[in-house]
Amino acid sequence: MAKQDLIKHTRIRKAVQGGWGLLHNAHLSGFLTGTIYQGPLKKFCVPGMNCYSCPGAVGACPIGSMQAIFDARKRKFAFYVVGYLAVIGMLVGRFICGWLCLFGLIQELLYKIPTPKLKIPEKTDKILRYLKYVMLFVFVFGLSFFYRNEVKVGMPWFCKFICPVGTLEGGIPLVLLNSGMRAAAGWLFRWKFLVLVLCIAASIFIYRPFCKYMCPLGAFYALFQKVSILRMSFDESSCVNCGACSRQCKMGVNPMKNPNSAECIRCGECVKICPKNALSWTAAGKAKKPVIVKVAADLGNSQ
Ligand code: SF4
Ligand code: SF4
Repeated sequence: MAKQDLIKHTRIRKAVQGGWGLLHNAHLSGFLTGTIYQGPLKKFCVPGMNCYSCPGAVGACPIGSMQAIFDARKRKFAFYVVGYLAVIGMLVGRFICGWLCLFGLIQELLYKIPTPKLKIPEKTDKILRYLKYVMLFVFVFGLSFFYRNEVKVGMPWFCKFICPVGTLEGGIPLVLLNSGMRAAAGWLFRWKFLVLVLCIAASIFIYRPFCKYMCPLGAFYALFQKVSILRMSFDESSCVNCGACSRQCKMGVNPMKNPNSAECIRCGECVKICPKNALSWTAAGKAKKPVIVKVAADLGNSQ
């Protein structure tokens, strides 16, 4: 039963990820003309990673917008971005990573390619996980603070030199569709293309490597994981220690030990696989008890 629930849940999640990806890349004519949508919706950023320069993008990228934060004396927009993302983080933590990120879905699909999978040694994995905070605090905030461009706007270091999402969604389509962009593509495009190729190759062998090790947006949302309104709760008294939840978690979390780990993307797979409903979602500290547990408790009381 838990297995069937999990299959259904996974299909729903994939549909939400794909549907959301299509929705915020709905400017389909951009893919034919090689142009970028510049309409009023571009003033708002979407909650997940999605390149501003993708020909289909109808919203702005949160990380690209965040890098303009130190231009705040001239534009109020950047403060709005950080506040808006912090509110999302406080509401749902990394739920966005698990449900509303197109690049997350792409990595998950690549991981489905049937090959032997790579298990990173625990110590190395632990160290590498800090890399995403380096991306956030050094490349998104730090360098943008110290280095501004000629119009005093924080330089978009992460977007410009690292982001594989931008290369996939923006750089490649524009270079293919736009002859001016093709002529201008130099060493920087080649470097970013290499980063993307490495990221894609790694995704075949490691589950969501960009999300685990590199994504500054995941790092930002992770800061709110333990205090967000949506949280996971673990009921020790129902648990039979079968270990199904930690085996199911491809992000390497043990939800029995740390149900609100900064590494959890709130995909909900462990909740579905648990045969004893020992894991559940809580809103503002109030657990939503699964019906089956309540019925079992009622039956127990009546005996
Ligand atoms: S702990 Fe559960 S909800 Fe979090 S990433 Fe792992 S399987 Fe998904
Ligand atoms: S799957 Fe459920 S019962 Fe099994 S170890 Fe995890 S929390 Fe406990």
